[in-house]
Amino acid sequence: MICGEGGSGAVFLSGCTLKCFFCQNYQISAGGLGRTVEIPEFADICLMLQRKGAENINIVTGTHFIPSLAEGIKESEKRGLRLPVVWNSSGYERTDILPLLNDFVDIYLPDLKTLDSSLGSALFGVSDYPQTAAAAIRAMAASRPLRRKENPRGQALVSGVIVRHLALPGLTDDTRAVLAWFAENLAGKALLSLMFQYSPPARTPGGRRPAGEWTRTITAAEYERILAMLDEFGIEDGFVQDLPEAAGSLPDFSRKDAFPGGLARPLWFCGGSGRE
Ligand code: SF4
Repeated sequence: MICGEGGSGAVFLSGCTLKCFFCQNYQISAGGLGRTVEIPEFADICLMLQRKGAENINIVTGTHFIPSLAEGIKESEKRGLRLPVVWNSSGYERTDILPLLNDFVDIYLPDLKTLDSSLGSALFGVSDYPQTAAAAIRAMAASRPLRRKENPRGQALVSGVIVRHLALPGLTDDTRAVLAWFAENLAGKALLSLMFQYSPPARTPGGRRPAGEWTRTITAAEYERILAMLDEFGIEDGFVQDLPEAAGSLPDFSRKDAFPGGLARPLWFCGGSGRE
């Protein structure tokens, strides 16, 4: 677990280097939602999340703002931020920027979306996603070994890497390649988070949508096949999402209560007067 009762203090950054057509945050990653926040205000936001009881500062998709974020976290820490910082990213990051990230990141949460460069080209328009993400993730694991601390609800991760992989419909062989790579390169050095929440998007602003079975969710048979791969590769430490019973409803970030069913509690909202 990386967050406890206070929840994760997610801070979403506008834009993204990949623009997946199935992005659940497409309004922010591709649709331009957001506004400019200067360093002192960024620090205000981090400190407000700490005051409200967040267990960490979870920076979502900040790759294109790394120097400013490094400065913002430094400023927040000068003003009293004591929370661990989580770096929640696409994994498409150069290893030469990791020293800058290592200055302020405690836990890395990178995606490993695919190891197939032709799928990477078709989905993101870049052919080097697999080697770039694999190299970045290996370097992240080398610099942030897994470390947990006891708390009343069990053990919380305070340092480490959690590699996320979203299974895509019709692409179990692709997931198999990712799991094989994880077992070979990161067993015992990082955790795996396997997700099955792919939901056919109604709109795909800015994203490439190659041919494929994108209009459906993951089937029960695909789910079982992928779980069997975990046994086959001996992957035991990490998180596996249950198979959702139906396509989930997407968050709507143009609303202050963006998350369906009150899943998360917005504390700051760029679209209105929404500070609390
Ligand atoms: S990498 Fe993540 S945030 Fe960026 S477009 Fe893809 S799903 Fe969205």
